[in-house]
Amino acid sequence: MTLKNAPLIFFTDKKCDVCGESYKPVRAKQRFCSTQCHNRYHNTERLKKTTEFADVLRILQKNHEILSNLWKAGKKKILLAELLKLGFKSEYITSFSQKERINFVFNTAYRLIAGEQVEIFKISPNK
Ligand SMILES: [Zn+2]
Repeated sequence: MTLKNAPLIFFTDKKCDVCGESYKPVRAKQRFCSTQCHNRYHNTERLKKTTEFADVLRILQKNHEILSNLWKAGKKKILLAELLKLGFKSEYITSFSQKERINFVFNTAYRLIAGEQVEIFKISPNK
């Protein structure tokens, strides 16, 4: 099929997903009125992802700091309620050992033991 005998397809006007302006699309799945709006959309999406990652990392850093500080202070056992009161967010871990039931936050770790207590570990990189 040559361009000459190609069927002419007219798309109905659309509203740009970024600026909301009405435009005539040249492709069926077109979402933006211009390259500028296309780029603006993707830059915003990238920033959202970066921000989300930074938020998770900040929580993990705080969890690591809490466990590290307790370990440094010689406190190897703490009530779970006390740990949570320090701002520890138990749902944020970096890995988990199912066999030993240990939750890792980078090189610090903890596990629930009897009496609603938490046992704290630290893996020394110089070990
Ligand atoms: Zn636009």
